[in-house]
Amino acid sequence: MVMHVKHLNESDNREPQLVTATADAIVRLSSLVKSYKLGQTIVPALRGLSLELNRGEFTAVIGASGSGKSTLLNMIGCIDEPESGSIVIDGIDVLSLDDNERSRLRNQKIGFIFQSFNLVPVLTVAENVELPLLINPQVPASERRDRVHQALEDVGCSRFVRNLPDQLSGGQRQRVAIARALAGNPDLVLADEPTANLDSENSHRIIDLMLDLNARRRVTFLFSTHDEKLMGRVSRIVHIADGVIKS
Ligand code: ADP
Ligand code: MG
Repeated sequence: MVMHVKHLNESDNREPQLVTATADAIVRLSSLVKSYKLGQTIVPALRGLSLELNRGEFTAVIGASGSGKSTLLNMIGCIDEPESGSIVIDGIDVLSLDDNERSRLRNQKIGFIFQSFNLVPVLTVAENVELPLLINPQVPASERRDRVHQALEDVGCSRFVRNLPDQLSGGQRQRVAIARALAGNPDLVLADEPTANLDSENSHRIIDLMLDLNARRRVTFLFSTHDEKLMGRVSRIVHIADGVIKS
């Protein structure tokens, strides 16, 4: 097994850090406010939310449906922006970046895993995992294949490279989606209710896999769930209710 270290910007000359729990925050959110417009009404989603995640941490954000979990993950993932507050990722003030810079940050530092897997049905497993690498100019073609194969091996799905997603079970599809998130060698993986469409056995297997990858690849994980049964598996639990962190 090859130990992966972080690939940051080539201009970033810091030593690869093989640390677990340090006070080194990879995500710093302060006082995030976000609401949605629904017809005439304003729906508050985040009401002054603050949170820090340390490098190497494995954190679950737990909250009822509608508590703001997806909105929170979309903020960290630079998919959406708040009305006010600040977002700092790996020392970078995200809200000061333009769209291109923000996309680059997302592509190079962050991996996503979704509840509904979000694989492209007409692409093979290998092509799905390769897809985000195609828009990353820092990954040459020669390296893409290695990254795809390593990521699929890491999630135990090497034998499916030529299959289409609908030939796989839900649990297998989510493993492929995890491989896709890892292939970019992200510092941070965000998983929005990754087990919500899986039965309990597969849910635990996906958590096991994420825990294993957190330990082996030193990737910081933040995953959301409303399943209290998964709470015992995680070292850090953050409760969200009505758009703020409760504990
Ligand atoms: P969770 O992921 O915990 O279920 P969300 O972040 O999706 O919570 O939603 C937080 C609140 O924002 C909820 O009240 C939800 O109804 C509302 N909301 C989320 N997305 C939208 C949207 N696109 N339009 C209107 N309201 C939304
Ligand atoms: Mg959600």
